[in-house]
Amino acid sequence: MTTKADNTSTSSVETLVIGGGPGGTPAAMALAQSGRRVMLVEAGKGLGGTCLFSGCIPSKIFRETAFRRHEAARASDFGLGSATDTLPEVNWSTVQSRRHRILAQRSGGALAKTNGLKGLEVVFGRARLTGPRSAVIERAGEPPRTVTFENAILSTGSVPSPLPIPGADLPGVLDSETLIGIGFVPKSMVLIGGGPIGIEMAQIFALLGTKVTVLEAAPRILGPVDATLADLLAQHLASSDIGLETGAKVERIEGNEDSHQVHYTRNGQSRSVEAQVVAIVAGRHPNVAGLGLETTAVTHGPHGIKVSDTLETDEPGIFAIGDVVGNPMFAHWATAQAHAVARHILGQPAAFPSSEHNSAVIFSSPEIGMVGLTEEAARASGDKIGVAEYDYRIDARAQITGDTLGRLRIVYRIEDHRILGIHVLAEGAADLMGEAALAVRNALTLEQMGASIHPHPTLTEAFGITALSALAKQPHG
Ligand code: FAD
Repeated sequence: MTTKADNTSTSSVETLVIGGGPGGTPAAMALAQSGRRVMLVEAGKGLGGTCLFSGCIPSKIFRETAFRRHEAARASDFGLGSATDTLPEVNWSTVQSRRHRILAQRSGGALAKTNGLKGLEVVFGRARLTGPRSAVIERAGEPPRTVTFENAILSTGSVPSPLPIPGADLPGVLDSETLIGIGFVPKSMVLIGGGPIGIEMAQIFALLGTKVTVLEAAPRILGPVDATLADLLAQHLASSDIGLETGAKVERIEGNEDSHQVHYTRNGQSRSVEAQVVAIVAGRHPNVAGLGLETTAVTHGPHGIKVSDTLETDEPGIFAIGDVVGNPMFAHWATAQAHAVARHILGQPAAFPSSEHNSAVIFSSPEIGMVGLTEEAARASGDKIGVAEYDYRIDARAQITGDTLGRLRIVYRIEDHRILGIHVLAEGAADLMGEAALAVRNALTLEQMGASIHPHPTLTEAFGITALSALAKQPHG
C-alpha cells in the first residue's frame, strides 16, 4: 500500500530488507516468492553488494588475467614455445573494461530476476530506521520515502577498517575497494594485511609484474586457516618474488601520490619499505553508520550487530544477516543466513548455518579450501582427534598439471571416525569443497568417504585414498 502527501510517499510492507548484496537480495526474493510484500532498498547503483562490485567477483576477474599470464610464463614446461619467450603484456584498461562488463551483466541479471517477482519492490536509495517499525529512504534528486514494516532484515554489509596510523589517508594509499578501481598495474606495492584479501591481491599483482611486499602484524598469515597449510603457503610465498614480513607492526606511511615509504617495526627493529602504491587490507568492520539503530533496541559492538540464534536483533522483528553481523564474512555465508531467516520469518522450519559446517576458499595460489573444524579447534573440544594427511606431490592429477605443491588434511574423531574438518592446499582446491562440505555437514565417517568411488585421475581421489590409509592405521578391535 502506498499513500502520497506533501511530496513524500509512505509505503507499508510486510518485510523491509536494507542492503542488496548476497545477504539481502536472496532474502528479499525468497520472501517475495512465498507471497510476502517486500521492499528491498539498495544504496548503490545496482544489486550485488560488495561481493559483486568490489569483492569476490572483481578480484577473481583480475586473478584470471594474472593466472593466464602465469600459464603463459610456464608454457615451455609443457612443450609449448621456449622459456625465453616474452610474457604477454598486460593491457590493464582491457582488464578493467572486462570487469565493468561482467559486473553490469551480473547486476542486471539480478535486477531482472527481482523484477519478475510480484510482491517485491526494489528501491535504489539509502535507508535509515526511524523507529522499530519505520524507516525513511533518501534518494538522490527525489523526495524521501517513508516505509512502515512488520519485519526488517538488516544486510548492510561491511566496510574496510581504517588503520589508525599517520599517513593512512595520503593520496595513493588505497583500501580493498579502491584497489579494485586502480587504473594501472603499479611497479611496486605494499599490502598491509596478510589475510585472505591481502594474500589474494599479493599473488595477483605479483603475477602481473608488480613487486609486492606484504606486511602482516600477526606471527602467521591467514588468521584462522589450518596452521600447517598457512605455513606451507607462507614458505611458498617466501620462495617466490613476494616479500612477506610477519610480526610487522606498521607505524606510519609517508610520501606522495607516486611514491610511499611504509615504516614498521619487527622484532623491536625499525624498518621501512618503499612502494608506488600502498593498500591497507587489514580487515573490515560492520557497516552500521547512519542506519538509525539508535531509534530501535538493536545493539551492536565493534564486531557486528548482536543477534540471537535465529539472527533476530535485540529489537523483536528486526533481523540481521551477513557481514553486518560479523565473522565469518563470506558471500555464501550471508546467502545461507538469508535463506534461513526468510524461512523463519515465513514460519517454516529453518536450519540456521553453523560455523562448524561452514566452508571457505582462500583464492591464493595454490588455493586453500576449508570446511568445518581445524585440528586446533577439534582438539579444544576434548575429543581424541586424528588427522589424516595426503601430500599432492604423489598425486597423478597434480603431476600432470605440474601443480604438486599441496596438502590435504582430514580432521576426524578417533572414537567413531566422524569427519569434523577437511582442509586442502592445492591448485584446484576451490572445486573440491563441494564434496568436503557434504561430508562434514552430514557427519560422514572415514569409512563412508573411503567407500565412495572417486574418479581417476582427479584431485578428489585424495579424499578416498587418505580416508582408507587413515583407517588402515587404526588399531583393530
Ligand atoms: P554486502 O555485499 O556488503 O552488501 C551490503 C549492501 O548494502 C551494499 O550493496 C550496500 O550498498 C548496501 N547498503 C549499505 N547501507 C545501506 C543503507 N543504509 N541503505 C541501503 N543499502 C545499504 N566472499 C566470498 O565468499 N568469496 C570471495 O571470494 C570473496 N572475496 C572477496 C574479496 C574482496 C576484495 C572483498 C572485499 C570481499 C570478498 N568476499 C568474498 C567477502 C564478500 O564480499 C562479503 O562477505 C559479502 O559481500 C557480504 O554480503 P552482505 O550481503 O552481507 O554485504
